[in-house]
Amino acid sequence: MSDTLLVNEIFLSIQGESTYAGWPCTFVRLAGCQSSCTWCDTRYASNEAGRNMTLSEITECLAGHQTPLVEITGGEPLQQDNVYDLMRLLCDRGYTLLLETGGFFPVDRVDHRVHKIIDLKPPSSGESEHNCLENITLAAASPGHLKKNFEFKVIIASRQDYEWGRDLLSRYRLTTHCTVLMGTVFGEQDPAELAEWILEDHLHVKLQLQLHKYIWPPDTRGV
Ligand code: SF4
Repeated sequence: MSDTLLVNEIFLSIQGESTYAGWPCTFVRLAGCQSSCTWCDTRYASNEAGRNMTLSEITECLAGHQTPLVEITGGEPLQQDNVYDLMRLLCDRGYTLLLETGGFFPVDRVDHRVHKIIDLKPPSSGESEHNCLENITLAAASPGHLKKNFEFKVIIASRQDYEWGRDLLSRYRLTTHCTVLMGTVFGEQDPAELAEWILEDHLHVKLQLQLHKYIWPPDTRGV
């Protein structure tokens, strides 16, 4: 059986949007995503052809970058079946491994050692009907020491998105057992306004701006 993955790019940068923000991190961006969020900022991962790489080619490339922190992202990384083997392999090799997923696929097959960053897509994305809410149940049912390996992220483009996210968190009491990040669609939602809403409502969420878009010009690739 083939052990390849279709890869868009592998690059070294600063982790920008999770509780690991600020750490040097090597990113494996897998190609392809079947969704079409209106404000997607990595459309190129679906539009470009990508390059087939074996798992050992990927691990060799990672070794060259020499970071203990690795993130698998996309596109939508869970669309490719061999990603599960890659995640197991990288955990076995001792990497701290992050998975960033659009939140449309269940994460029940992901190795429990992987730190899962799961989007909850709001109405402005045009894809909120497709959120896999079973992932919230899965996180809630996980033993305490594994709950810390789940974090959920709501990206806000408007007040309507904010209210949607606030109500969803309340319905599932998600902030009582998992870290929840709230951020803005860059250039569409004023972060100061989001901060005020969070404080007004006493929401127990972590405001998270996309750090890399403040360090480098926001359209820069490979950061
Ligand atoms: S899930 Fe992520 S990669 Fe896919 S369209 Fe939405 S934002 Fe883009």
